[in-house]
Amino acid sequence: MVSVAIDGPAGAGKSTLARRLAAELGYIYVDTGAMFRTIGLYALRAGKDPKDNEAVNALLPEISLRLATLDGEQHIYLGEEDVSTAIRTEEAGMAASAVGANPAVRAYLLDTQRNMAKTQNVLMDGRDIGTVVLPDATVKIFLTASPEARATRRWKEYQAKGMPNTYEEVLEDVKQRDYQDTHRAAAPLKQAEDAVLLDTSELNFEQSLDAMKQIIARKVG
Ligand code: C5P
Repeated sequence: MVSVAIDGPAGAGKSTLARRLAAELGYIYVDTGAMFRTIGLYALRAGKDPKDNEAVNALLPEISLRLATLDGEQHIYLGEEDVSTAIRTEEAGMAASAVGANPAVRAYLLDTQRNMAKTQNVLMDGRDIGTVVLPDATVKIFLTASPEARATRRWKEYQAKGMPNTYEEVLEDVKQRDYQDTHRAAAPLKQAEDAVLLDTSELNFEQSLDAMKQIIARKVG
């Protein structure tokens, strides 16, 4: 099985690029951020502080999380509810970052993530895929861009969806999330030693896609 691990900070374009690459390569796209977001959303809905590990841990046994691919798109379900759209808010992103620092949450999701790569060719994006989840991945890419470039992209997405967040708010969130993701004890965001670094600050979407294709082609004949 071929596995492509794509890690990097929030807003580097991982999911958009990974989704397109997976479609072109015929691999299954696994968005691990969506799993953390779903747990974060569940905690918020339950009225719990996502940073409160004990409170979140008590919720884990009641969470039923399921991924399904519909028309080539990954959907994520909380029980019977498709939460694929509900998890795409800034609030759910911050909650995801908080529950991502919780070792019990990471352990809870690890098996699901690993099992997905055992039976099919996958392109998995996240923060610790190359370092923890799939240390033997066929290809590892660390995708990054400056905080300003990442905030600009995310802000434009929000504008397009009619969401009210200002650029300054988005930049602040990007920086806060970077800090949380790189400074946590459990599986912090860091580049695997054998990952190829790709900085997309100065690249547009097609250029980034081409660069990734070249990196993959060098490893997968
Ligand atoms: O990638 P996305 O922005 O959807 O991820 C949301 C948050 O979930 C990240 O900021 C990170 O804290 C957490 N996460 C993680 N490990 C992953 C994927 C996401 O800790 N593999």
